Amino acid sequence: MRQWREVKSHHRDALVFFRVGDFYELFYGDAEVGSRLLGLTLTSRNNGAAARVPLAGVPARALDEYVARLIKLGQKVAICDQIEDAAEAKGIVRRAVTETVTPGTVLQDTLLAATRNNFVVALTEATEEGVGMATLDLSTGEFSVQAVPPDELRAELSRSDPTELLLPGSLEGVAASVDAARPAEATRKGAGKGVPGSAEGSESSLGDASTDVLCTYRDDWIFGYEAAAEEIKRHYGVQGLGAFGFQRDDRAIVSAAGALLSYVGEIRPGGAEHVRPPRILRRGSAMLLDEMTCRNLELVEPLRAGEEGGTLISVIDETVTAMGARALRRSLLHPLVDPEAIWSRQDAVEELLDKPDVRRRLREALSRMTDLERLAGKVGAGRVSPRELLGLGRTLAELPTLRAVGESADSALLQSLVGEIDLLEDVLGLVEAAISPDAPGGLQEGGVIRAGYSAALDEVRATRDGARDFIAALQTRERARTGIASLKVGFNRVFGYYLEITKPNLDRVPDDYVRRQTLANAERYFTPELKEWEERVFEAEDGVERLEAELFKEVRGRVADEVARVQDAGRRAARLDVLTALAHVAERRQYVRPELHTGFDVEIVAGRHPVVETMMPAESFIPNDLSLDDGGRIVILTGPNMAGKSTVLRQVGLIHLMAQIGSFVPASRASLPVCDRIFTRVGASDNLARGESTFMVEMNETASIIHGATARSLVLLDEIGRGTSTYDGVSIAWAVTEHLHETVGCKTVFATHYHELTQLGDLLPGAKNMNVLVREVGEQVVFLRRLESGGADRSYGIQVARLAGLPADVIARATELLTELEGTHSSGGQGLGRSGAYRPTSEPPPDQLSLFAPAEPSIATRLRGIDPEEMTPRQALELLFELKAESGTRDVG
Ligand code: ADP
Ligand code: MG
Repeated sequence: MRQWREVKSHHRDALVFFRVGDFYELFYGDAEVGSRLLGLTLTSRNNGAAARVPLAGVPARALDEYVARLIKLGQKVAICDQIEDAAEAKGIVRRAVTETVTPGTVLQDTLLAATRNNFVVALTEATEEGVGMATLDLSTGEFSVQAVPPDELRAELSRSDPTELLLPGSLEGVAASVDAARPAEATRKGAGKGVPGSAEGSESSLGDASTDVLCTYRDDWIFGYEAAAEEIKRHYGVQGLGAFGFQRDDRAIVSAAGALLSYVGEIRPGGAEHVRPPRILRRGSAMLLDEMTCRNLELVEPLRAGEEGGTLISVIDETVTAMGARALRRSLLHPLVDPEAIWSRQDAVEELLDKPDVRRRLREALSRMTDLERLAGKVGAGRVSPRELLGLGRTLAELPTLRAVGESADSALLQSLVGEIDLLEDVLGLVEAAISPDAPGGLQEGGVIRAGYSAALDEVRATRDGARDFIAALQTRERARTGIASLKVGFNRVFGYYLEITKPNLDRVPDDYVRRQTLANAERYFTPELKEWEERVFEAEDGVERLEAELFKEVRGRVADEVARVQDAGRRAARLDVLTALAHVAERRQYVRPELHTGFDVEIVAGRHPVVETMMPAESFIPNDLSLDDGGRIVILTGPNMAGKSTVLRQVGLIHLMAQIGSFVPASRASLPVCDRIFTRVGASDNLARGESTFMVEMNETASIIHGATARSLVLLDEIGRGTSTYDGVSIAWAVTEHLHETVGCKTVFATHYHELTQLGDLLPGAKNMNVLVREVGEQVVFLRRLESGGADRSYGIQVARLAGLPADVIARATELLTELEGTHSSGGQGLGRSGAYRPTSEPPPDQLSLFAPAEPSIATRLRGIDPEEMTPRQALELLFELKAESGTRDVG
């Protein structure tokens, strides 16, 4: 227990698996956590005079499986092994932690998703620069840093979706009160809450990720600028930080990067050589995508868990390598904002689309490639297997195909991406020369190093084989000598080589045979000669094993020296895979190249929803046109439930996003501006999948749009304001739209089934009405899915209710009530439009149902219309009485 306490004191935040005989034991709080999370039996053991010690154990051979489960649950595990032979130890066997496994730093393939990065993110406390954020995928070595304004932190974290956060210890109290007895548990619970700048009162941005996020806290000093800068210089062996592009006032990002490097060094000493120099992401280098927009547009995660096919990535991911799939996912979550960069991707995609042969050749070559980025991670960590090195060799052999395409390409991007790709011929040559083409997965099995690579090895192998042959030949010789035709030479692990003679022949055994083992119907012997040759075999085998291990280590080391080049080739191949995939999907789904410009107007001709169209029989999705320009930058999109409003709205967002990653789009023509942000909000009651959304959350999100949107943004609002009463809802929607129109000036599509809002389309000069057409056939509605100008004239709620199967008497009663209500309101006088600032004199269309009728005009609007300078005291007084009287009516109304 003293040993355990010593180990635990250095691994307070990990579950310590402590080797005892054939088991790994957890003690105290770790045992309680382990028993709960793994279903282990909690027992206790008497610790001398002291109290009983809670204890839970797992069989040593099942360790990996239990560790894997804990990592998926966001736990950190320290494995403490016996580091000396129990038989030779004096007193208690020495033990030490041989490996620490954490969710953000795992390298085992079984714990990593092939097509997603696994990020550990370090955050500093917020300063005036923002929060320093460093993001590392240790399995590939990709490393980036950025300074994030606190209010954008949630969005940044949600798209990198880390499995582990590294935070300064001083934030620990903020995150959770740490229960000293259950440290691992306490840190896990802290997920999300302690993140600086995370929005208060809303759910954790991290807690609902597929795996739990582990928060790891380290002393504040490793986040200190000086210490962090030193760590970076030490890690990369550089004199100054300028080489990486850090500037003098980049304190926050240096702190985050340095802290993360020192943490990785702690977890995997010497295993971070492949971590690339940090890429500094400056603000504005990619479009910021908030969590809600990613979710509502179902970019990478379906709204309803389990419906994987419902995401944009599932439709456009035609990549053929895991590294390509990860790159596409990253691109999709980081759309470009620089038009030049988008155009150059478009050129590349177009060229690959126009050259089907080239594309096919590339896809074949790429699909034979292994995951170079993850392989680089294993090389860096010294865990690469012989077979994986063979995979590296096979992969490198495909590079000339990639380069040939780049060399003959017209597109500048293709030229620079692969036209100059490093063929790594030296590494390929080394692997081919050194590794045997049928090398096994592990080193222990032997036969790793190729014949001819090392004269020394070849010689020991020849000796070994000669000795083996001699023993094999013994069978013939001894048969002749003894006259026993069934005599056999054999080998077993315990007894070594033997001569086997069956019972009936025992009388003919020569004198020089020494008995080695007795079987049911045979005896096994050896002779002094056999023994001698056996020793030669064993000695040679040992020599082979030792030499192979040495040589393999040397080869691995030489590959490790070139790991940055391997990573670079991997990154280029991944990007090429993405471009090829985009060309492939463009052909397969008949997308067109959008005209991307720096102006304002949007024009989409025959646009389709990229995901919904794939879920229907071919040709049955109805394409729609939509344009947004200064005279109609806000579209009020009305139509009954189920008409297709949400689909059109998301389609606009998805088409924009696709365009900004360089993809072609589902339309027959599209002319699109480069957006700085795309916001998508779905009203509370429409957001059923989440189940947990409330009106408050919806309003929170709406507020964030109003603060974040600019004239270059695209705002998509779907049924906002529905989570409260109709009057409230319409009022809020109205005011939000006015604000976007007046103050923000962004392009907006606002889908609503409140056809009352069509008044806005008439009132605001920059707004227009559109509706998704339905036709009434008798008392039924037929959905035409066709978008046309003008507002919906009514809600068709009752018809939809009928379609949904409400009983006839309920429908009849509802119709009766509706008529009554419509009667009341349309006789109520002025609509909202009457007093609106934009068309003060015009009457609302006579057939318009205004829910606002009794509530208007507002006192404020009336006041705005008068000029006190022009009024006599008496007029003023009269007005005051009038307003007072009206405010009385309003309360009733
Ligand atoms: P709303 O938001 O108006 O209630 P949705 O956009 O949710 O309606 O559309 C309802 C359903 O109609 C969708 O699930 C889809 O199956 C179908 N739909 C929508 N738009 C189209 C279209 N353009 N062509 C074919 N089917 C469509
Ligand atoms: Mg809808």
